[in-house]
This record gives sequence, C-alpha cells and structure tokens, in this order.
Amino acid sequence: MTDSPAPRSFDVEAVRSDFPIFDQRLSSDLPLTYLDSGASAQKPRCVIDKEREVYEQYYANAYRGVYRFGAQIDDEMESARARVGEFLGARSAAEIIFTSGATMSINLVARCWGGRHLQAGDEVLLNAAEHHANLVPWQMVAQQRGARLRFIPLLADGRLDMDGLDQVLGERTRLVAVSGMTNVFGTINPLAEIVDRAQKHGALVAVDGAQSVPHLATDVGNPPIDFLAFSGHKIFGPSGVGVLYGRRELLQDMDPFLGGGHMIARVEQQASTWADPPARFEAGTPPIAQAIALGTAIDYVSSLGWDSIQDHEHQLLSYAHQRLLEVPGMRIHGPDIEHKGAIICFTVDDAHPEDLAQLLDRRGVFVRHGHHCAMPLHAWLGQAATVRASLSLYNTLADIDRLVEALHFARQKLRLD
Ligand code: PMP
Repeated sequence: MTDSPAPRSFDVEAVRSDFPIFDQRLSSDLPLTYLDSGASAQKPRCVIDKEREVYEQYYANAYRGVYRFGAQIDDEMESARARVGEFLGARSAAEIIFTSGATMSINLVARCWGGRHLQAGDEVLLNAAEHHANLVPWQMVAQQRGARLRFIPLLADGRLDMDGLDQVLGERTRLVAVSGMTNVFGTINPLAEIVDRAQKHGALVAVDGAQSVPHLATDVGNPPIDFLAFSGHKIFGPSGVGVLYGRRELLQDMDPFLGGGHMIARVEQQASTWADPPARFEAGTPPIAQAIALGTAIDYVSSLGWDSIQDHEHQLLSYAHQRLLEVPGMRIHGPDIEHKGAIICFTVDDAHPEDLAQLLDRRGVFVRHGHHCAMPLHAWLGQAATVRASLSLYNTLADIDRLVEALHFARQKLRLD
C-alpha cells in the first residue's frame, strides 16, 4: 500500500470550481442548487477529462489486444483496480470486481454466494431501511433456496435496534446484509458492532456502501467485512461502473453469475472452467473508460481528505437542520445529525412531496421526492412519499439558504401561508 497524498486544504469555492456543471446559470438567471447527490453526484473536470483522454488517445477493448493501445488500456484498468483496492483497504486488487453498479454488485453476491451457500431454513438478516437493491436480490435468492429473510427492528428514530438484532441473529443466520449509510434518512449504521455480533454466530456481513463510500472513510479490514458494494456515479465517477469488494477466500469459493468472454480458464463444447477472481465475475467487455475514470474519481476524493470532507458535510447538515425548522409544518424524519450523514429527509404538512419538488425546481433547487427505492421504510414511516435533500462536498451554506427560501416560496404557491 502506498501512502495517500497529503490532503489539500478544503475550500468549498475551489472545490466547486472543479465541477464544470456549476459554472452555468439556469434560466431566469438562477444559480444551480443541486441537492440530489444521493441519487447521483456531479463530476469533477479531472474525471471528465480522463474519460475523454481514453477515447481520444488510446481506446481499445480491455484484456484482449497485445497491441500498444490494448496494453495501455489493460495497465490503466489494473491501476484503477489497485487504487480502488487501496482506497477500500483491500488486501489485494484481485478482491476488486468491476460491475455496472451497486445493484449489480449486490445481485452478484446474492446469486453467486447465496445461490451456492444458502440452504433451506438458513437465514439472511435485513432491515426495513434498506434500498430495494439490498432487499429484492435477497428475496429472489431466498425464494430459490428456501431460505428465510429476517428483519432487524428499527428504533423510533429509524436507527437499527441493536437489542433487536440479538433477537433475530441466531444459529441459522448465514449473512447480514446492511448498508453503511442508508439512502433515505442517511443513518450511519454501527458496522463494527454488527460485524462483531455476526462473527460470534459465524455469519458473514455484506455491506451496501452505495451511500457510505462517498461520505465516510471505508476500510474493509476494520471492521472486517466480507463483501462491499458501491457505485461509481455516486462518488463523482462515471455512471455504468461499480465495484464489488469480496474477501478473496469467499470469491474463490463462488461460481460466476454471468458466462462469456474473459471469465473462463478453459472452454470445451460441453463445459467450461472458470478463471480466478476478479476475471471470473467480469464476463464480457467491461465498462472500460468508466472504470479507468473511476480511479481518477477516487484519487480526487482522496486528495481532499476525509476529515475535511466530513467536517464540511457535518457543518452543512447542522446548518440545514437548524434553518429548515424555520419552515412552518416542517418534519425532518430519521435520527439526529450525530447518527447520520449528509442527507435530510423531510415532509411539510399539507404539501405533497411531488408538488414541493416541482416548485423547488422553479427556484433552481433540485431535490428528489417519492419513496426513494425504499418502500418498506416508507410503510414503516407511514408516509407514501418524502422529500430528500442530499448534500455533498460541493454544497455550500448558500445552497441551504436557497432551499429554505424555495420552501417558503412553495408554501406560498400552495397557499399554505
Ligand atoms: N443502495 C443504496 C443505499 C443506494 O442509495 C443506491 C442508489 N440509490 C443503490 C443501492 C443502487 O445503486 P445503483 O442504482 O447505482 O446500482
């Protein structure tokens, strides 16, 4: 492992100037107030330039050609894989599989690990705050294998009930699937505690890092987790690429999910044998420029440093909580800011979330409304839909002021004043 470069000092205006999308004014000369990074993050110029460099200067397929462009692409892909591995604290780059995103990564674990190792009566632990991507694949494999899904209860503020965990964790638990940070409330789950208790029962822990990896320092060795999934597009990288980290011994003991080129050792007419991981799980042409530029995105985040990012996001979150409560009828859902990352989920009394999102757009404020791919959580909350403002390292206190101003505007338009 090489030492990471010394973090540059955090200056949000300088960070913003790294993102060309913020150079524009919207119609009516409104500034862009982007509060939907939880859905997808904007891209810094270095990531856009890297993708362009690949296409303009040395594009070729990966792992196929010995000519110089082919070799250069292979080197760039492997360098990106190694940097992702270091970023996550993996022991080896072979533990890093490029996928199309977190959804594909979790489906891979469910199908390839669950499809092989889950037996009838075995249990997988989930909880109602998970994104559908960390729920539906487990439902599918559980139905196939006759396994049972059990749910860790939630406390009144939406955090996991850790006493309740002990009631559902048992002899038959094979795996706990849990997110590092949830996508609706932004709850940061106590992974160290979960791993510790799961290990005592011999259960694996698979972490959905789609929201946590872009906001929190991640080390798959501490606490030791077995699988980790995330998406490139939420961490300032391109869309179409994601990562599955899997502990080497586990990957070695899994059959592939997709068959095709690159994933084989030997193919005969009737049967084939598999390549070693990661190639075993990377059938077909990979997302080439995207994986290479994901390496650049990881370098970008590392250059800013987690302490600075977290301080900045915490300051935004605390300011947002304080200012949003000025809006009459405001209800912020989920735990307090000590237990969550840079996401605010809210409703305003008598205002439909979709109306709010549309009216906020008129003020140049982009938020998401709906169930955010978390229907069970919304059922638990007793709300069909909520509004979600998700913050990132390029947001400013002025963005929060514009959100609050736009909410007053929306209430006026809805005649709630
Ligand atoms: N898990 C969580 C917690 C998410 O927020 C998301 C994206 N909304 C996903 C999984 C799925 O990510 P993707 O759509 O990039 O595969």
